[in-house]
Amino acid sequence: MSWIPAILLLVNLVPLGSHRATASPPLSAAGSRSLLRAVASDGPAADYAVELNATNFDAALGGTPATYAVVEFFAHWCPACRNYKPQYEKVARLFNGPDAVHPGIVLMTRVDCALKINNKLCDKFSVSHYPMLFWGPPSKFVATGWEPKQEKSELRVIDDGRTAERLLNWINKQTGSSYGLDDEKFENEHLTSNISDPEQIARAVYDVEEATATAFDIILEHKINSGNRASLIQFLQLLVVHHPSRRCRQGSAEVLVNFDQFYPLDMLTLDRREVSSGDDQTAFHNFQICGKEVPRGYWMFCRGSKNDTRGFSCGLWVLLHSLSVRIEDGESQFAFRATCDFIHNFFICEECRQHFYAMCSSVSTPFKTTRDFALWLWSTHNKVNERLMKAEASLGTGDPKFPKIIWPPKQLCASCHRSDSRRNDGSINIDWDQDEVFKFLKQYYGKTLVSLYQKKDVIQKDIANGALEDSAASTSAVVVPIGAALAIAVASCAFGALACYWRSRQKNRKPRRSWN
Ligand SMILES: Cc1cc2nc3c(=O)[nH]c(=O)nc-3n(C[C@H](O)[C@H](O)[C@H](O)COP(=O)(O)OP(=O)(O)OC[C@H]3O[C@@H](n4cnc5c(N)ncnc54)[C@H](O)[C@@H]3O)c2cc1C
Repeated sequence: MSWIPAILLLVNLVPLGSHRATASPPLSAAGSRSLLRAVASDGPAADYAVELNATNFDAALGGTPATYAVVEFFAHWCPACRNYKPQYEKVARLFNGPDAVHPGIVLMTRVDCALKINNKLCDKFSVSHYPMLFWGPPSKFVATGWEPKQEKSELRVIDDGRTAERLLNWINKQTGSSYGLDDEKFENEHLTSNISDPEQIARAVYDVEEATATAFDIILEHKINSGNRASLIQFLQLLVVHHPSRRCRQGSAEVLVNFDQFYPLDMLTLDRREVSSGDDQTAFHNFQICGKEVPRGYWMFCRGSKNDTRGFSCGLWVLLHSLSVRIEDGESQFAFRATCDFIHNFFICEECRQHFYAMCSSVSTPFKTTRDFALWLWSTHNKVNERLMKAEASLGTGDPKFPKIIWPPKQLCASCHRSDSRRNDGSINIDWDQDEVFKFLKQYYGKTLVSLYQKKDVIQKDIANGALEDSAASTSAVVVPIGAALAIAVASCAFGALACYWRSRQKNRKPRRSWN
């Protein structure tokens, strides 16, 4: 079935001649909207594959959560490339953008070598014909180029991707998957719930960013009032110092420093639609607390197998646990209160906030150590799990691939379980070794959670641009008491690109219009 286009494309492969450096206008740098989100949001004509150029290539490939990338080098004048585009797009639909069927696995990109701006980039990959496709870990495209006959390169030329079917087969072979071109979102899930693999949590760092950005979108949209401003400020103070993602820390600092502009007192009496249409407020309204790439519109570790399961609430739990193991002993009571108040005021799930607040209210002795707070949060989460286990079993509302469990299971932390026994009603009674649980939580939500970002050593270079995360820095940030958060916020802003942007806005700002 697919051999005719295959042959057409084969004979149309164009050897690279002297056409590369045409005088086409250079692509503009990435706009203010996310490159990665833009792909599927601009109506039916938008491409799924992300078009990159020399100015955004490193940032897009260095910053993607995807495990693999495909880069197609092409030339816009090349007929074979034009013929190939629909084939490439069929595959890109599966992997790219917020509506991707299988998000966060492969980032599908293309680079137009006929644009002058991309000459050096195409040379770096020894592009010899169009279209020429490469495969590899995204960070390797940033760190290295490619040369013919190069040994031991993690980048590979895709030699059998001339039709959508062949390209997907090739990808399936590399990833050990069985993706199909007709796969539809939430119908052909290849999710594996490998609960015994502690490394899986590393992917959740992207979800923590996603949840943070989503929470702040919700807050900007609906929830701020004179009664809960203080609660938001306190939670932001926690995030500025202890959020596992550097760019979320920077964004939180920015919100704190400009809090009155983000949430002006006179805004509280306003209709939000009026606010969002105001010139001055538009920038604040569009502010993305974890940087312009977030939210991406999909979940990694927290991805459910159904449209309405997991996602935000899972990401929020991971954020809370990651904060709980990062705080200092002396901050534990503050962190507890900030967390309880934040959920109570801003988590738009009535049942959840009520239950959670009831559990907060039942705590009578102030927390004195990180261990106290982290273990309280862990056991509170388990109480929610226990309740939902029963509810989901009777209502069938849970995610079949991710049933609720009392956590961590033995497969994940054997030493946490002293002994397990069954109660009369069939439920499991676990005698926990709480020292081991705390040790495990610290490792899991501390170091392992941020390990992916640490491994992306190349991307560390982008930190200066405010583009990406660290985390070693976060560990050292733990020693800063919360009282210094505001000072850190100011210092952090001085170095953040985002801060510069905002500060220049402040300088140029016209007197704010009165909303009354
Ligand atoms: C504060 C809060 C209160 C909530 N209350 C309710 C409620 O009352 N009713 C309701 O229907 N839903 C509630 N939810 C949502 C619910 O808890 C789940 O988040 C949702 O059902 C999605 O479940 P999940 O399978 O993704 O796992 P989640 O329960 O969201 O857990 C996310 C991840 O955390 C890890 N984890 C699981 N248990 C623990 C633990 N004890 N300690 C540390 N890590 C753990 C696991 O890796 C899991 O995949 C609440 C959510 C939050 C954030």
